[in-house]
Amino acid sequence: MADTLYTSWGRFPQIAQQGLRLAWRGDELPEPLEGTSSLLPYGNGRSYGDVCLNRGGTVIDTRSLNRFVSFDAETGVLRCESGVLLSQILELCVPKGWFLPVSPGTRYVTIGGALANDVHGKNHHKAGTLGCHVRALELLRSDGSRQLCTPDENADLFAATIGGLGLTGLVTWVEIALRKIDGPLLREESIKFANLQEFFRLSELSDADYEYTVAWIDCIAKGASLGRGLFARANHTDSKSQVVDVDRGARVSVPFQPPFSLINRLSLKSFNAFWYMRQRQKQHTRTIHHRPFFYPLDTIGDWNHIYGPRGMLQYQCVLPGEDGRAVLRNMLSDIASKGSGSFLVVLKIFGDRESPGMLSFPRPGVTLALDFPNTPDVFRQLDRLDAMTREVGGAVYPAKDARMSAESFQSYFPRWKEFAGFVDPAFSSSFWRRVTGDKL
Ligand SMILES: Cc1cc2nc3c(=O)[nH]c(=O)nc-3n(C[C@H](O)[C@H](O)[C@H](O)COP(=O)(O)OP(=O)(O)OC[C@H]3O[C@@H](n4cnc5c(N)ncnc54)[C@H](O)[C@@H]3O)c2cc1C
Repeated sequence: MADTLYTSWGRFPQIAQQGLRLAWRGDELPEPLEGTSSLLPYGNGRSYGDVCLNRGGTVIDTRSLNRFVSFDAETGVLRCESGVLLSQILELCVPKGWFLPVSPGTRYVTIGGALANDVHGKNHHKAGTLGCHVRALELLRSDGSRQLCTPDENADLFAATIGGLGLTGLVTWVEIALRKIDGPLLREESIKFANLQEFFRLSELSDADYEYTVAWIDCIAKGASLGRGLFARANHTDSKSQVVDVDRGARVSVPFQPPFSLINRLSLKSFNAFWYMRQRQKQHTRTIHHRPFFYPLDTIGDWNHIYGPRGMLQYQCVLPGEDGRAVLRNMLSDIASKGSGSFLVVLKIFGDRESPGMLSFPRPGVTLALDFPNTPDVFRQLDRLDAMTREVGGAVYPAKDARMSAESFQSYFPRWKEFAGFVDPAFSSSFWRRVTGDKL
């Protein structure tokens, strides 16, 4: 089945992408569609840029690989096909007292896609990346072989496939270790902070005692208020008292695509000021259902449409050490002075648990993530941010990227050549060709 409906979440780049579906984990790998030259697995298209796209190639849609294989409710070990969504895992395991060990900010991603980007969550400082909790996977290669990969068996191929951007073959099933919980709720504190210095202090004070920490920041604030925002820290709880934010399951959608981006200097300034002032007290505590806590954006369907037909670019970098903190300040000043960015700006400190993937993005340091409407100026601005990231030995997240240069990629991911040795000869992606100059 060929069609052209495969896009990424940022809706940039916009390409006519052909794809076909794999129906069953025992099926053989298909040949690329006629007139195309390579294959790439496609999860649920929640990557922002082009890691899930393959211009001139064929994507293999994995969403019909949506079956659970086994689940042990005593040990929390789950094996499922790679196209199972995190939302489906949560539906199965939360009522049985288990939770995802690591979750990104949307539950509408497949476990195969999450593994291929080695995703991180608000608990990175405690739990590391998703790959730290993967016990085994099966990899289907274009020579027809099926490789069982674990941290001990085919260990190199395992390390290449975790965070391997879909390039080492197609993952048919994944086995992960879940995390025990007492119920679906969390106790959350939201603390207002006045500037970056306070953010770093709050992180240092919170990371030992709170499993989840993350901050929203106002990217328009300048001077003494640079980096002001709201710091959220939370733990799972079995207490049912004072539940103020239940999961109402309500879902609204952006009903149409506006002809231009609704995010501009003016809307951004007003929204950010409103959001920062909305919490009047310094600190606010509530008990909250896991869905609004982990996935607030999932309640607004197609929110990416607010950026208009040109789409948006997301930028997420990690900046290590003290120098990274100074560079973060420069980046935020650059963004505030241009009035660019969006209201979705996140700051978090990554911990030092090592990521198991050769190309995994997280490493110790502060990580900043924000969206930019796709305007003519944004590419120059992002090149500037890249230069700052390179300067301190940081990295930019491929899952969010659509434009980083080969030079940047190769400096962010020094093991890329070793990784290239594990790439399946029939597989490629728009991202990979851009950052390596590979022709396939
Ligand atoms: C609102 C929102 C919030 C987000 N928050 C976070 C966050 O907090 N942390 C974070 O880390 N990320 C975050 N992301 C990014 C998202 O989690 C990742 O991009 C994720 O990998 C998307 O999964 P997907 O199933 O949509 O896969 P796709 O985007 O379709 O594909 C992602 C990669 O996986 C590969 N792939 C897919 N299936 C397979 C398979 N079966 N075998 C081999 N390779 C495969 C693809 O080739 C591609 O390289 C967020 C995204 C959104 C939209």
